Amino acid sequence: MKPTHIEHIGIAVKNLDEAIRLYEDVYGLKCYAVEEVADQKVKTAFFMIGQTKIELLESTDPEGPIGKFIEKKGEGVHHLAFAVDGLAAQLASLERQGIQLIDKTPRKGAEGLQIAFLHPKSTKGVLTELCEHAR
Ligand code: ZN
Repeated sequence: MKPTHIEHIGIAVKNLDEAIRLYEDVYGLKCYAVEEVADQKVKTAFFMIGQTKIELLESTDPEGPIGKFIEKKGEGVHHLAFAVDGLAAQLASLERQGIQLIDKTPRKGAEGLQIAFLHPKSTKGVLTELCEHAR
């Protein structure tokens, strides 16, 4: 696999509006999109830095993945997302290399991206997401 760049960094927050204020008022970035991803039980806010995004994630359900993460570990960095080409083929190849996949096939993420997660057990403790832009 050869990622082209860091697509985004996902950060779990308790309160999206408060977190947006930090990124806008203190960091001087502009939130360009807020989107609810019902599938993952999250509301997301996006900021652009160069070609990398910051994705703030607030849980819409305590039983969702972000709700559980915050309960266990508190707020903080949740995942790292690489941009790749040919996501489906990359997943097959990673699996052959012994990487444990959370998603065996690409699914739809925020911003219309095709995404898949790799299990942190296989990736030195970092929940890793692969993203492919639809073309
Ligand atoms: Zn993500």
